[in-house]
Amino acid sequence: MGGENPNMQIAPGIHRVPTVTGSNAVLLVDEQIAVIDTGYPGNGETILAYLKDIGRSQKDLAWIITTHHHFDHTGTAAELHELTGAPVVAHEDETEAGPDGTPRLRKATERQHIPFWYRWLVQGFRPREIERPVIPDVPVQHIVKHGDVLPLLGGVHIMHTPGHTPGSICLLIEKPAALFLGDSAINNTSRISRPLMWDRGARRELDESLRSLRQIDANVALFGHGPALTEAVMPKIRALTDKPYDVPTWRIVLKNWRTLRRFYSANRRPGGLAGTG
Ligand SMILES: [Zn+2]
Repeated sequence: MGGENPNMQIAPGIHRVPTVTGSNAVLLVDEQIAVIDTGYPGNGETILAYLKDIGRSQKDLAWIITTHHHFDHTGTAAELHELTGAPVVAHEDETEAGPDGTPRLRKATERQHIPFWYRWLVQGFRPREIERPVIPDVPVQHIVKHGDVLPLLGGVHIMHTPGHTPGSICLLIEKPAALFLGDSAINNTSRISRPLMWDRGARRELDESLRSLRQIDANVALFGHGPALTEAVMPKIRALTDKPYDVPTWRIVLKNWRTLRRFYSANRRPGGLAGTG
């Protein structure tokens, strides 16, 4: 544990904003700046204060990239857009038409039927308002597809990696060579794992997406949850798909319930899993 390191640079130009609640929020810092994911609602001040700490202005924020629609990643996206005017970026399959026809992040859960016993045993009872939070509307101003490139750090390549959600993306950064996995993989600090998937079709889809990353070369891997990896990076990512993976979900839960419980409680703390590693 101990104090947070005030300099949260993971690699040249790549920073993790400390004390964000929910997912990690990662900054790509070049002439212009992008933030990848924003955590739960209410992290706007924290993210903009960090920009100031590294001597930059919120005017430099040019993109608010969302790896997928989940609330713990996109809760502050609309707020940051309001504060800075930077466009929210999302894959087209992660959007739906809002009431006025303009795109916004989807809100519906994607084919996941989470059984009652799982909520009860692993996620823990929570008051109704936490269980069913008010999910803000997140208008999307910049829709991306597989192969698109954003002009930062030598090029930020968008890879469509469906599975966790239909429009989940991974990002491959050229300089430094870094792979951002969103929730397609999680760093539990003790090991890298897939997110828990209840729908077997979606799980197969995720598997295919993870397989498509096997040829990639990156020296750094960043996750939606958990600390970055800077050593033996690609062997660890490839190990996820070394063996076929088609066991019943209840068995995965039984084997990993301690890790899963830790995940949910860390998600509610500033810094999340990355703050504990
Ligand atoms: Zn997610």
